[in-house]
Amino acid sequence: MGSIFKGKILSPISKSKIFFLNPGYLAISEKGKILEIGQNDLRNKYRNFSFYNFFDKLICPGFIDIHNHLPQFPLIGLSSTNLFTWLNELVFPYEDKFRYKKFAQKYSGIFFHKLLKNGTTTTSTYVTIHKQATDIAFQSAKESGIRTFIGKVMMDREVPENMLEDTQKSLQDSQGLIEKWDGYDEDRLRYVLSPRFAVSCSFQMLKGIGKLAKRYNIYIQSHLAESKTEIELIKKLYPEFKNYTEIYYKAGILSEKTIMAHCIYLDKQEIETLQKTGTKISHCPTANRFLSSGIMRYRKLEEKDLTIGLGTDVAGGYSFSMFNEMKEVIETSKTINFVNPKEQYKPVTVEEAYYLATLGGATALSIENETGSLEKGKSADFLVIDYQKLNDCKDNDILSEAKKILSKMIYCGSENIVKQVYVKGKRVI
Ligand SMILES: [Zn+2]
Repeated sequence: MGSIFKGKILSPISKSKIFFLNPGYLAISEKGKILEIGQNDLRNKYRNFSFYNFFDKLICPGFIDIHNHLPQFPLIGLSSTNLFTWLNELVFPYEDKFRYKKFAQKYSGIFFHKLLKNGTTTTSTYVTIHKQATDIAFQSAKESGIRTFIGKVMMDREVPENMLEDTQKSLQDSQGLIEKWDGYDEDRLRYVLSPRFAVSCSFQMLKGIGKLAKRYNIYIQSHLAESKTEIELIKKLYPEFKNYTEIYYKAGILSEKTIMAHCIYLDKQEIETLQKTGTKISHCPTANRFLSSGIMRYRKLEEKDLTIGLGTDVAGGYSFSMFNEMKEVIETSKTINFVNPKEQYKPVTVEEAYYLATLGGATALSIENETGSLEKGKSADFLVIDYQKLNDCKDNDILSEAKKILSKMIYCGSENIVKQVYVKGKRVI
């Protein structure tokens, strides 16, 4: 039997448009697909469906966080002077603990639960170099009900001895995990090959990853041009290449199914390489500031028609919440004009931030036909939001329009207003 939900439906259409139904009705099939959405009461049409009345709540698509690190989340909020100090002093010692089964089990379960509690229904996640820990992460994701892309981190140089992998073994372990998990539950779980970055990967490994991705038609995620120190290191490690992006390009790992995080320091040629290969970008404004890495010129890349989604980059980012990430993407963009008025930078709008956290993220992961907005035929991945919690004085004029509700939700929202969460029509929170 299917179900019908009534509520104030708020969903993205594009970077500048949202649609709002007050009230709206959502009919969902037994298999979790959206059968119909509109203003008409659907109860007469689907007579045997269960009915859920959320007339005073918002119904929104689930959020999509396209970049985060499972093993790092206990480190949230622990700051450091820069990316490499943070990696060496905090991250690597912590990731090493995931060699132990019990540790991986405990933290994987909490991680996916926290994402869902925050309204994130789709995530793209790095684990550690450990095959067992990655397998456990998949198991936890399977049980939690979340939609996710998961990958074992790959590193075969320039990291502490205990984090170093044998190149062939790393590729074989990844292959084993692909064969076991990719496509599980009608693609709810996908594998994503996860070389950490070119600093910690030999060219031989990157080439092996490119081959594996083609053979199995698999996604790839990595980091690109996050900090100036990283770029200096890349010049030393890969002196034969013109720029950072060329390393990934020549290794054959840039494609429409590749997502590169950060992309702060790219030259014209590098942007063209990302364009011609269809590579997607994960914008992580919170982490970029938290680790003092820099400010990505979102608008510059967006105007070149590059596809961009948002990533919390937990724990480079200090919050699981996509409300926070939407706020950060707007506020960070506003500061650019103060620093350099000559850029005449057009700040990100609330509609645009909402798009990036939903349909934009889905497009970056090439699953925009499946999720990211509330439309007929898509999976019923959605949230019930108690936005009235943000209206202390119960002043109806304040939250009378869709744009006002959206703005209030972005700036003041948190997991406290996420009342219920559904993936594939199934309640998971
Ligand atoms: Zn990251």
